[in-house]
Amino acid sequence: MSRDRGIDARVAELHIGFRPSGGRGEYEVVGNHSGYNAIGLEGWTFSMRWPDGLVRDTGLWLDPAESGKPRLRSMLTPAIQISRIVTSMLMLPDPTRELRSTPKSLPIAVTKRYIVKDVGFGTESEFTGVADLVTFVPSYITVANLGESKSIGVAARWTRVEAVYIQSDLLPGALPALVQSHRDSLATGDPVTRALTSTVNGIMASLSSTPGLAYQEGSDPLPALEMLLGISPPSGPTLPPPDELGEDAPAISARSAHQYRLAKVRGASGRVFSNAVRASYSNRCAFCGAQFGGIPGIRSGVDAAHILAWSKHDLDVVPNGLSLCKLHHWAFDAAIIMPRREDDRYYLRFTNLADLLGHEEIARIGKEGQPIPDQWLPNDTALHPSSAFLQRLYADLGVTFRSDV
Ligand SMILES: [Zn+2]
Repeated sequence: MSRDRGIDARVAELHIGFRPSGGRGEYEVVGNHSGYNAIGLEGWTFSMRWPDGLVRDTGLWLDPAESGKPRLRSMLTPAIQISRIVTSMLMLPDPTRELRSTPKSLPIAVTKRYIVKDVGFGTESEFTGVADLVTFVPSYITVANLGESKSIGVAARWTRVEAVYIQSDLLPGALPALVQSHRDSLATGDPVTRALTSTVNGIMASLSSTPGLAYQEGSDPLPALEMLLGISPPSGPTLPPPDELGEDAPAISARSAHQYRLAKVRGASGRVFSNAVRASYSNRCAFCGAQFGGIPGIRSGVDAAHILAWSKHDLDVVPNGLSLCKLHHWAFDAAIIMPRREDDRYYLRFTNLADLLGHEEIARIGKEGQPIPDQWLPNDTALHPSSAFLQRLYADLGVTFRSDV
């Protein structure tokens, strides 16, 4: 029923994935988008559109491997991988390509102690078949070490970098010049080279020699720059440090997302959406299977929750919804538990925010890793929760799953 409204659950499931091959990981293209997949993109070159609107050549192309999967390779000398391009642009520490040399501890993004697990293609990515050129719009990156992983929304992170750019004159020591150099090299729209990594390294070295600043050398420089500029970090004293919460403090993001959802459910289209979602799920909660609706004489106890409130997509379609009981609607909105599609099934996964709750409360919410039975989902698989929307939600909230890596 919702197909003709222009939604396609497969949109934007394309991503650039890390593949640990022997010692050093390589990158391949996974999934499909607008009918393209890795094989269809063999031999194509990759441009990238950044949130600042600039499109730049990445020097990357998809090398048709003689055996196995095509790999994303750099034509530049020296070569530069997608992981390093994106992290240096986002002012993140330089990653490694060897997962096994990373620790299991937090924080994740420490110089040469983490990998970039994947880079998501945004829905606005374009494919130019005549020129064999893909202009991809990175929507999120997932960073990981052996113990943890988290997704970082590219646009949200870039907004923070730009806020630092604007006030960089107020930074101490060599930092204004270094931050300005980072800004200048991105303003040209030229391909990113390893020089940008050196600039980020310079910023980190300068931070570690800044008196009175609690900065762990090699760790994410952005929170330290924000601290120096008095840009208040979005966390409260009751919450763990930002590194344990994921970027942008998901509790706060979740609260904001909740307000958007509430605003969205109001109104006529909201009612149509709610009814369609409840009906598709037979008034069951997708997380616990409780059938608290469709009972004559009793007000429905299941809600139609939105996955994404802000997407450019048509929001009020069933694949952007979940039928949830009151408890699970709360737990989902609070970003404590999320459904995740893994190998063609949905599983319930707790996020790191669950660490803030007691064992009894956790047990009432659910069981880590529990598969969601097909009977709790719509019969029509086209109406199942869109994993593209879910991925974007994780990135938007900076969700870190307990079970990852
Ligand atoms: Zn429930």
